[in-house]
Amino acid sequence: MTSSQVRRACAALVDSLEIPVPFDLARMCEGIGRRRGKPIVLLATPMAMGGGLCGLWLGTAKADYVFYEQDTSQLHQQHIVFHELGHILRRHVPTRILGADLAHALAPGAQFGPVERVLGRDTYSDSDEYEAELIATLTLRRVSRLNHVDSPRAVDSSADDAVARIVRSLSRGDGK
Ligand SMILES: [Zn+2]
Repeated sequence: MTSSQVRRACAALVDSLEIPVPFDLARMCEGIGRRRGKPIVLLATPMAMGGGLCGLWLGTAKADYVFYEQDTSQLHQQHIVFHELGHILRRHVPTRILGADLAHALAPGAQFGPVERVLGRDTYSDSDEYEAELIATLTLRRVSRLNHVDSPRAVDSSADDAVARIVRSLSRGDGK
């Protein structure tokens, strides 16, 4: 695909997402899980164990688990989750698979069943990372707009600034 085709495909995907107003990340992920027939389970955790990762996707036959940093702003958490959703929904195939032991270190005691894949930053090609980051950015923008129109009190006024920052960092090519 050319880069404009990739951008269109990512934009179409983001437009197809059902976004709750007022915004609720857990409800949004529940809805996506229902429609695709496989739950998406969110796990907030201190990601310091993850060696600098902010988010992680752990796939099993029954569910996709998205780990995200608990010790950061709500906006950053949303960005992390949307990025991982981008990888999941675009069915990215990693270049390298992290060990299940990392997931167990991040979520001690969690019962995942047989783990099919554990994916984090550096396990994807640059183009897949770009897609996931674009999806995260566009989704944040949609959330911000929808909630601005329908529920002014729910607006996070920092969202637009964050989107602008992300777009700037992407165009510098150092987005993660
Ligand atoms: Zn990624």
